[in-house]
Amino acid sequence: MKPIKITLKQLTGFTKGKHVEKALRIQKLIEFVANNPTFHEKILNADFRDKRFVKENGEVLTIDNNQKILDIILAGKEQFVTEDADAEWDLRITLYRSVTFEVGHRSKERIFTKKRKFKKFSDRYIASHWIHEYMHVLGFTHDHDRTSRRPDSVPYLVGEIAEEILKSI
Ligand SMILES: [Zn+2]
Repeated sequence: MKPIKITLKQLTGFTKGKHVEKALRIQKLIEFVANNPTFHEKILNADFRDKRFVKENGEVLTIDNNQKILDIILAGKEQFVTEDADAEWDLRITLYRSVTFEVGHRSKERIFTKKRKFKKFSDRYIASHWIHEYMHVLGFTHDHDRTSRRPDSVPYLVGEIAEEILKSI
């Protein structure tokens, strides 16, 4: 299998050198996770209870096969940009200021992370957060409300698997 490459395609709001240095360390962590055989195996064996995938045109599919879910994850085809399945995870990250509670969110091809959280939380924590948001960039979704199936959606469960792997290194 072709190794997955992680690129920091666009960094917005990274006003200090140390923010960029942190992003580069996180990039390495994500690269480690994305190429980790345990990561792939855990995705293949995960008990996803929400496998919805929203296409760019809004059509909702269910990817009812873990191998297909893994294939989509490894293909690195971001939505809303002209992209091939190039086995590259192109990360476009914006740091923003807000008083709301969340760590961040995704809008189309971009991941938004609250600057205060980016500075405060560990490299590993932000790595799992970016992996969660990147699942949205690919098209996977979850309930907005705290439903019982939300933790078992692709973004949450894959983010959690990533977190477990990062804890072990
Ligand atoms: Zn999410």
